[in-house]
Formats: sequence, structure tokens, C-alpha cells
Amino acid sequence: MNPGPLFITNTLTRRKEEFTPLRPPHVGLYVCGPTVYSDVHLGNVRSFLTFDVLYRWLRQLGYTVRYVRNITDVGHLVDDVDHGEDKIAKRARLEQLEPMEIVQKYTNGFHDVMRLFNILPPSIEPTATGHLIEQIEMVKRIVASGYGYEANGSVYFDVPKFAEQHAYGELSGRKIDELLANTRDTEGMDEKRSPLDFAIWKKAEPQHLMKWPSPWGVGFPGWHLECSAMSTKYLGQTFDIHGGGMDLKFPHHECEIAQSVAADGHAPVRYWMHGNMLTVNGRKMAKSEGNGFTPEELLTGNHKLLEKGYSAMTVRFFMLQCHYASTLDFSNAAMQASEKGLERLMKAMALLPRLKPADGDDADIAALEQRCHAAMNDDLNTPVMIAELFEAARIINSVNDGKLKLTAASMEKLRALMQTLVRDVLGLRDEATASPTDDNALDALVKEFIRLRAEAKGRKDFATGDAIRDRLAAIGIALKDTKGGTTWERG
Ligand SMILES: [Zn+2]
Repeated sequence: MNPGPLFITNTLTRRKEEFTPLRPPHVGLYVCGPTVYSDVHLGNVRSFLTFDVLYRWLRQLGYTVRYVRNITDVGHLVDDVDHGEDKIAKRARLEQLEPMEIVQKYTNGFHDVMRLFNILPPSIEPTATGHLIEQIEMVKRIVASGYGYEANGSVYFDVPKFAEQHAYGELSGRKIDELLANTRDTEGMDEKRSPLDFAIWKKAEPQHLMKWPSPWGVGFPGWHLECSAMSTKYLGQTFDIHGGGMDLKFPHHECEIAQSVAADGHAPVRYWMHGNMLTVNGRKMAKSEGNGFTPEELLTGNHKLLEKGYSAMTVRFFMLQCHYASTLDFSNAAMQASEKGLERLMKAMALLPRLKPADGDDADIAALEQRCHAAMNDDLNTPVMIAELFEAARIINSVNDGKLKLTAASMEKLRALMQTLVRDVLGLRDEATASPTDDNALDALVKEFIRLRAEAKGRKDFATGDAIRDRLAAIGIALKDTKGGTTWERG
């Protein structure tokens, strides 16, 4: 396949640029992963989906991609600043669990959600706690370069000093004077030289649960540090693409750049990419807003903002119908339109093998393919590509109705095209059209098994309960236990 060059919007330069990897055919891709202290909500899913499509398209273009997506399991403090409680330690206190139990619980939950939305696993999924040595070494290099200083067992990054010699604020478009004028943060000022300085190593208070020895005493790494240390370890001091949600541009990504330049003397990333937010009725999706519904709530429809349940593939399709750099507003009307659209696409694909070839062509499949590739190469323009796929569906339906002709060769080309773009690139699975409520008899049958399993568990017959779940799983019916009860889907 030779679909021509890929152009992506580099948020560092704010320009659409031709993507050329540093060491073709290899591509190094780093994406900031979740902080595993709570359930993933749909807004998080959109960000990971954006980079899933990038990963899939890069592979389609023939690149060998090393995709690193981390798990933040220490150091991310409440309010995203460098004072206050660790998010994971706080949750451990509230749930009365060991912090690593919290990490495991929500890492498992995150993986379940990624599988549900058919988001591919990365090549490497490193954790912050697994890379303490690398982080401590990086702090040492930053201190040695003169841009880090120790104060009372913590180590801070000297932002004003760094900014004298290097660009700071380039990615987020912030100027150091404005940042200084706008800051009212006096926290830690008994230790920090400037309110703009950020912690790269924090001294742990005696009651702190997550702490490690270091040359500066017992403490834990600053949040921004892990991504710099792990991207350097697995992708090198300079690598191709760094992605994340738009809200991570500042301070997180800005600090990552500063740390790498200070430690190793290089800007770490050649292309920065940022996905936009998911909003609900125009407001950012967040748990605190009461609109951050979980994937389970979405599937069951069990939330005051949902008119009904939607399948994971409907949600995936809905998100792909919007360009990743635009905000996407969630509404029931838009979801229902996506549900119908996806069904139309899937039905057309199912018709393909049954079409009767003719001895001539009324549609130019090669041109259609070319337009699809051009859309993807134009900064992953999935909405434009999906419009072309609807055109393909129209052609298939017309051939089926006897209104258009296609040769066997064109049909084969169309089949391969749909297979590649719909399944491999957009990652849409078959069960897309079969939301549980579509097939009433099957739904009733599975619900009967769910009831039998609940009865078995009620009389403490866990062996039978597990056997019901496992046998259903073996025939492709996955049960999922949620707070609101057990749901099912085709797995
Ligand atoms: Zn990060």
C-alpha cells in the first residue's frame, strides 16, 4: 500500500507537518496513560482512542511502531500540583486498601475498558513505581546541569533559570512573565526559589505510604518526571511522537520538555499531538460535574443523562465521526445517529460477499480508496474518511439492488478496502450492530443465565456461578458485574 505521505498537526509548531520518522521504518510513540486511582470515564476513553487510531494508521502505513503508554501509579498529587495528597494514597485511605491494591484494581479496570472499546494494548506499558531508579538518575542529571536544586529533602526544577537559556512555555504558548504575574500559589514557597518551580523529587512525610530512599532522603518522584524518564529509557533521548489529552499540555508536557533539555541537552519530542475534550451539553466531562459517566453506565443506560444504553462500538464510531483535535459534544441524538450510521455500514459489509459481479464498472473503487487514504493522511481526518465509507455503503447497496454494476475485481478491491479501513484502522468490530437489546430472545436467554448465576452465588455455590460465567464466555458472551447489576456483551 502506498497512500502517500502522512501529515499531522504538530502542536509544538501549531502547523500541519509532513511526518518523517527519525529512524524509518521505526516510529517511537509515547502517550501519557492513566493515573490509576479511579474508574476511567468516557472523556479518558476518547483520548486513548485518538492515539489508538494513530497507532493503527502508522502500522497500516508500514511502520514498525514502538508504542509506550505508561501507568501512573505514584507521584500524581491531588489538583495536579506538587503539594497535597497523592491521588492513589488518598484513595487507598478512603477504601482502606494498600496503595498497590488500588493501583492493581484500577489498572485492571482500565484494561477492561480498553478491551471493551477495542483499543489496542501498547508495546510497552511501564509504571512509575517500576522506574524509580531511572527517575532518581534523571533528577541527578538535572541537578548536575544546574537546573535543579535541593531544599529540605525535596528537589525542585528552577524554571526561571532554565528559561534564561532555553525556551519554556513554547508548547503551551505561555510566557514566563505572564505566568509569574498570574500565580497566587504560595504553597512550598519556604522551599522554592520561584512559585513557577516544580518538584522533581518530593520529601515524604512520615505518614506517607508510597516512598523510596534517594540521595536526598526518603521521598517520591514528581509527577512530570516519570514520563521523561520512561520515554527516554524506551524511545531514546529524542523520539518521534508524544501524545496526550489537551489538558496535559501545561504544566505536564511543558515540564517534560524542560526536564529532558536540562537532563540530556535535547528537546525530547519531534511531533507533539494533543486530543481534544469530550463535552456534555457544552461542559467538560468530569466526575465532579456529575456528567462523567462510566462505560458501564453507558452500556446499561443507567444514568440520568442517558436515554438508553449504547454499545461500545457505537461509542467508538461516534467518537471517530469527529476530528480528534475538535471538541466533541455528547448527546443522545448524536449517539442514536451514530448507532444507525454504524448499522448501515455493517449491513453493507455483510452484503458484500453476496453481490453478483458484472462485466463492467459503474463506480471507481480505486478513486474511492485513494480519497480514504488521503483523508487519513490529512491529520487522521476520520470524519471525512467515514463519509467516504458511507459512499462505499451506498455503492454496495446499489449493486445489491441491481442499480449499479461492479466487476469481480472491483468487488474484491472493495471488500479488501472495507476490511482494512473499517476493521483494522477504525477498529470497529462485528458486535457493533448487535447491541444487547437488538436481539430480544438472546437477551432474555442470557438474562436467565445471569439470574441463575445470582441465585447460585446467593446460596454460596460459587463453583456453579463461575461455571455459568466461564461457559458463557467460551461461547462469546461476556458477563460484567457492575454496581447496578450484571450486564453482558458479545466478547
Ligand atoms: Zn505524561
